[in-house]
Amino acid sequence: MEFDVVIVGAGPAGLSAACKIRQLSEETGKDISVCVVEKGSEVGAHILSGAVLEPSALNELFPDWKDKGAPLNTPVEADEIWYLLSKNMGAYVPALLAPKTLHNHGNYIVSLGNVCRWLAEQAESLGAEIYPGFAAAEILYNDDGSVRGIATGDMGVAEDGSHKDSYMQGMELHAKYTLFSEGCRGHLGKQLIEKYNLAEGKDPQHYGLGIKEIWKVDPARHKLGTVLHSTGWPHTESNSFGGGFAYHLEDNQVSLGLITDLGYSNPHVSPFEEFQRFKQHPQIRKILEGGERISYGARAITKGGIQSMPKMSFPGGLLIGDDAGTLNFAKIKGSHTAMKSGMVAAEIVHHAITVDNKSGIELTSYNEAFEKSSAYKELHLQRNFGPGQHKWGNLLGSAYAFIDINIFNGKLPWTFNDPKPDHAQMKLASESQKINYPKPDGKISFDRLSSVFLSNTNHEEDQPCHLQLKDASIPLGKNLPLYDEPAQRYCPAGVYEIVTEPDGEKRFQINGQNCVHCKTCDIKDPSQNIVWVTPEGFGGPNYPNM
Ligand SMILES: Cc1cc2nc3c(=O)[nH]c(=O)nc-3n(C[C@H](O)[C@H](O)[C@H](O)COP(=O)(O)OP(=O)(O)OC[C@H]3O[C@@H](n4cnc5c(N)ncnc54)[C@H](O)[C@@H]3O)c2cc1C
Ligand code: SF4
Repeated sequence: MEFDVVIVGAGPAGLSAACKIRQLSEETGKDISVCVVEKGSEVGAHILSGAVLEPSALNELFPDWKDKGAPLNTPVEADEIWYLLSKNMGAYVPALLAPKTLHNHGNYIVSLGNVCRWLAEQAESLGAEIYPGFAAAEILYNDDGSVRGIATGDMGVAEDGSHKDSYMQGMELHAKYTLFSEGCRGHLGKQLIEKYNLAEGKDPQHYGLGIKEIWKVDPARHKLGTVLHSTGWPHTESNSFGGGFAYHLEDNQVSLGLITDLGYSNPHVSPFEEFQRFKQHPQIRKILEGGERISYGARAITKGGIQSMPKMSFPGGLLIGDDAGTLNFAKIKGSHTAMKSGMVAAEIVHHAITVDNKSGIELTSYNEAFEKSSAYKELHLQRNFGPGQHKWGNLLGSAYAFIDINIFNGKLPWTFNDPKPDHAQMKLASESQKINYPKPDGKISFDRLSSVFLSNTNHEEDQPCHLQLKDASIPLGKNLPLYDEPAQRYCPAGVYEIVTEPDGEKRFQINGQNCVHCKTCDIKDPSQNIVWVTPEGFGGPNYPNM
């Protein structure tokens, strides 16, 4: 199938690009066809975020979003920031002492999944075609090495590679330009960065893993519009970093999560169990007691900022949104910057096709246009937040951020680098302190399997495993003796297990059906041996409103 523009991924970046291209088509009368493919069973099914939405990009894209019924129903009324000192103690941080990037006046607490569903409706009504259930599995190239489009994955292939009765060959989608907006650690984006050497001269990308639940809480404990952020405990117990959040949204719901910095060095750390401990802190527990957990999921987040952003253009296409790492970690927000990156891309691509009458060339002007955008400006001002946290830890790092951001408005002239990739931070298990995580109580804290159940994750069982090992001997031969195979702990869905057979033999088991597509294994495996590839379309979590 031929289109002017193919977009991979229906998140905020891809959908904003689709809307903007079609708006420009209407405004100029120069029509451009746009097709968006999305691997989730519907738009929003794989979207997991906080989310406090800064509406700057949305205001620009749809100034009348209120009239159009955008699901931004809960304005932020109050910010609460806590430094958790220990499992029982916490210190309230007055707003005056917090980096101003954590002030949320003017923002909205939303379900980003629902915002994406609404954006998809707008894009379709403007004339874009959206195909959920289709995973872009392969990048197609022209003879001159430029990107020609993508191929969606075959359906109905059995685990042994044979074709089942339901076999359906994937489709080739050709385009003048292809926009890759797969979000954090995009599987095709990773290939493009490598092929075109887009990350040359940049720091490696850095990541966190966000694990999130939605709770329906006792109305007496619910404070509509309150945004709580925390840092410190439980991560301080294992010398790791991260922070928690609890956002009180409509219908007595609280969106609750913990982001663990994936630069942690102790292989015994389990981000899932850290999250269970976090919920037991009195400041968090008091929100949840008597409530009901209704949803669970996990997703990695990019946090390297502009020091880690690759060049975003290559012949025939662009990387946009978190596929390029546009998230502003100082704000813990990436939706508005992802949207803005998509809107800037739309203008560049529309101009290239309709005015320059060109296709398949490298649109280097996109990098310059993005650097002039509001999104880049804020990323530049807050560029030292993430590396500062890595350098000095949460407390001192936050103190530095306060001085840099609140006093100097981000104008201090230096730029910190953070050159060691997260996976290379892992120390040997024998040199690291073991962590005794408490057993779940089944009321506030839970186990992995009951959690994954709430993510509505489903994959066709008889298909090739989408978690590929470059070398099958590494989990037992190297990772187990050196790092006590950390995949057993960093995977928030219990996909990786070391199973001991009755004869005492050990086996590395991959329960691929449980995978919630967070991408952590692709990022954190110390041997960089696990490659996440797209499973059959429709597979993965089915988040209702994450
Ligand atoms: C726990 C957590 C809390 C967060 N809190 C906030 C917050 O409060 N405020 C905020 O602004 N931001 C927050 N963020 C960040 C924000 O969610 C992201 O920055 C934003 O979603 C990035 O948008 P995107 O369009 O680039 O990617 P995504 O939102 O990740 O969307 C990518 C889409 O592409 C699809 N896709 C991927 N690969 C393929 C493929 N090969 N084929 C087809 N489809 C594909 C995915 O299924 C997905 O639907 C948070 C993130 C996390 C994880
Ligand atoms: S298998 Fe990998 S991508 Fe899937 S849930 Fe586990 S860590 Fe995340």
